[in-house]
Amino acid sequence: MEIIKSVEKMQERADNLRSAGGTIGLVPTMGYLHEGHLSLMDAAKKRCDTVIVSIFVNPTQFGPGEDFDSYPRDLERDTALCRERGVDIIFAPEASDLYGGNFQTAVTLSRLPRNLCGISRPTHFDGVALVVTKLFNITKPHAAVFGNKDFQQVAVIRQLTADLNFDIEIIGAPIVREKDGLAMSSRNTYLDPALRPAALSLNKALAEAAERVKNGERDGEKLIKEVRDRISAHGAADIDYIALHDPKTLEPVERIQGPTLMALAVKFGKPRLLDNIILSP
Ligand code: AMP
Repeated sequence: MEIIKSVEKMQERADNLRSAGGTIGLVPTMGYLHEGHLSLMDAAKKRCDTVIVSIFVNPTQFGPGEDFDSYPRDLERDTALCRERGVDIIFAPEASDLYGGNFQTAVTLSRLPRNLCGISRPTHFDGVALVVTKLFNITKPHAAVFGNKDFQQVAVIRQLTADLNFDIEIIGAPIVREKDGLAMSSRNTYLDPALRPAALSLNKALAEAAERVKNGERDGEKLIKEVRDRISAHGAADIDYIALHDPKTLEPVERIQGPTLMALAVKFGKPRLLDNIILSP
């Protein structure tokens, strides 16, 4: 397995791989890897000859007062995990190499970032769109894999890929969970163990909503209220949003008439946890 830090070297390596006729699969991450990330690497390996995992805690997607400085990092451990999983190349650039002194370009989507996570993190998806655009140009992938845990992020990436004519297949991969049902996240490391039972209410409440829809409930407001009540029964929950959206357009949904995304973000102490489910009538 190679570890490449320089943008120029990564581009050269990607050109060589492409000239040799191989396909490249990219898995963008911020590191501190867990089984969720590793499942994306498996998906990339299935689709492509060479798997590149980028590890970069991207400053432009963190807002003021967010956890950029304290975001967990462990490149040594990540390297071992990637090697074990059969990754071919880790691309781990320095921020100074990606965003040089005279950097001035933005990648902004006009509508998708306006709801869900974009309300409390208004600059987040611009940062994501910018870094992913750069990673696409640097690693030159045929396919890129993203996790559906960050459902809105996948929608943003699909949109920018279409809008900017990137010739890249975007693959959305299922949420990987801990044995107790908590969606895996690098930020789970900040979760106070005393709050874990409360955090498990996220997945449980979503599963209950899915069951309610199977049994005929169609009223969105009622479903959201039930999930809210279930989660806020644990005093520690600080709910950012619980929302119903069309999984393709991310337009808000009031009545369940087809597959519908139920997504939520809730803070439990320090970490803000995300989870979602597709409700199918
Ligand atoms: P991050 O390192 O948090 O930026 O995540 C990198 C990629 O891993 C993103 O595409 C995430 O959606 C994905 N990911 C994170 N957690 C999970 C999970 N529990 N299951 C599946 N994919 C995940």
